[in-house]
Amino acid sequence: MLKQKNLIFVGAPGAGKGTFSAWLLEHYDLVHISTGDILRDEIRRDTELGRAASGLMKEGKLVPDEIVAGMVKARLAQPDCDKGFILDGFPRTVHQAELLEAALAETGRKLDRVVLFQVPDEMLLQRLTARLSCRKCGEIYNRLFLPPRQEGVCDKCGGELFQRPDDSLETAKNRLRVFYEQTQPVIDYYARSGKLLTITETDRERIQQLLNRELN
Ligand code: AMP
Repeated sequence: MLKQKNLIFVGAPGAGKGTFSAWLLEHYDLVHISTGDILRDEIRRDTELGRAASGLMKEGKLVPDEIVAGMVKARLAQPDCDKGFILDGFPRTVHQAELLEAALAETGRKLDRVVLFQVPDEMLLQRLTARLSCRKCGEIYNRLFLPPRQEGVCDKCGGELFQRPDDSLETAKNRLRVFYEQTQPVIDYYARSGKLLTITETDRERIQQLLNRELN
């Protein structure tokens, strides 16, 4: 069985970080920390932070490093993270990676693996613009590749499915640009640490065995 593992999932938007987090969480008792989910929740609750982030997210731009790093640091300080965690979509800049390092040192935690999901651009755009998410449980579908049994309704919980506003073609293209400009250097940063595990589209069938092997 899985020992305590602290993981980062990194990859372009639409690369499968959320989908594989969901799969992993069915099998392993880990805390899932998605900065995108936390920010969307802040927007839903109309908090000050949510109002500050909303415009940037709509344009596909990054929320300032200090804000997201502060959110993650607060989450990592909670005791349930002792059982291990997946950081999904954070860090997205080298500065965030440095802030994370400091936060981990302060909370007495360390990283085990950085999993990079590598997917060709054309496929990313196709996936993003056809993606549907459940408003209630967060389950992810795709109109083309993984449609729900009943249109607009979540198979799992019956919740309403919707398209994220930042999954429009225009914003999705912008998010990809931001990924290559600002997040690619983070991958190089972790490659140097020897903790990077790259999973490509051809590994996809083997991905579950691969992760299982890595995590046990
Ligand atoms: P995601 O759900 O991970 O695709 O994130 C959706 C949006 O939230 C991104 O396009 C950013 O605007 C914002 N966001 C999420 N995580 C971060 C992060 N680590 N740094 C800055 N902005 C973020």
